[in-house]
Amino acid sequence: MSVTVRAPAKVNLHLGVGRRRSDGFHDLSTVFQAVSLYDEITVEDADELDVVVEGDGADEVPTDTSNLAIRAAIALARQVGREPAVRITIRKGIPVAGGMAGGSADAAATLVACTALWESGIDTDALHAIATTLGSDVPFCLLGGTAIGTGRGDQLTRALARGTYQWVFAIADGGLSTPAVYAELDRIREETPVPESATPHELMTALRSGEARRLGPLLHNDLQRPALRLRPALRRTLEAGRDAHAIGAIVCGSGPTCAFLAQDEPEAVALVAALAGSGTCRSVRRAHGPVAGARVVA
Ligand code: ATP
Repeated sequence: MSVTVRAPAKVNLHLGVGRRRSDGFHDLSTVFQAVSLYDEITVEDADELDVVVEGDGADEVPTDTSNLAIRAAIALARQVGREPAVRITIRKGIPVAGGMAGGSADAAATLVACTALWESGIDTDALHAIATTLGSDVPFCLLGGTAIGTGRGDQLTRALARGTYQWVFAIADGGLSTPAVYAELDRIREETPVPESATPHELMTALRSGEARRLGPLLHNDLQRPALRLRPALRRTLEAGRDAHAIGAIVCGSGPTCAFLAQDEPEAVALVAALAGSGTCRSVRRAHGPVAGARVVA
């Protein structure tokens, strides 16, 4: 018996980072959108817990208990009182350490897959509670769509959003460490205090209109500045996208992937060609959003 689940990457349309809390986490005010870049996870009964990773960047993904899919299987098994005896196969379609929540997507997919494989009958709220213990982005990878995240980004409310948005992603060589980018933000804020971001009302209105042209200029990411300090070459990537008529250009989460919003599909195709020819990134991918969260496909 095996179950296959597909889970989407995320892009933060808005990422406002508050002060560093005493527990080390930052309070976030974010708007997530799930996009059609997917990791696919298959779980099957086995004698013991094991993980195999395939696809782009697979050799950078750990296969020990620091793998988020392994942690998800262990956490769910503990909750339902059984052994996590499964073999997990991860096919990476989401850039590794790219700021698009690839590890979190794998955790969400594993929770959904093991729930089905074990017929554990665990409800959505309980699954969400386990997801929260695994990582801040895991609950959103379960939910999908477009959602507002507060707290550590794990307290979610569905956003009223219309239409489909055309995205282009420029994937960089190598990843950026999320903790290093947050630490750099803390350093910047010691030098020049930055006002804290609140709920982005204008962006929410743009989302309700369904017009990409209104949304593009309102994309915002507080982690962009620290990511650019750690990886100055990303400025050229963003510039290349703007020059090729992107209506929004932003670093994805903690980077180094850059996200570009296109007006429509033909503009997105043109943007892919321009970025691929710009020599400012390793590869370019096209996607649309919003899409559903982690779902069983087989
Ligand atoms: P974040 O969600 O923190 O923004 P990210 O999207 O930038 O992270 P991920 O692809 O989730 O990046 O990988 C971050 C790190 O997590 C990797 O460097 C890797 O060591 C570790 N990791 C653990 N499990 C996984 C997994 N299943 N897939 C990818 N990376 C994983």
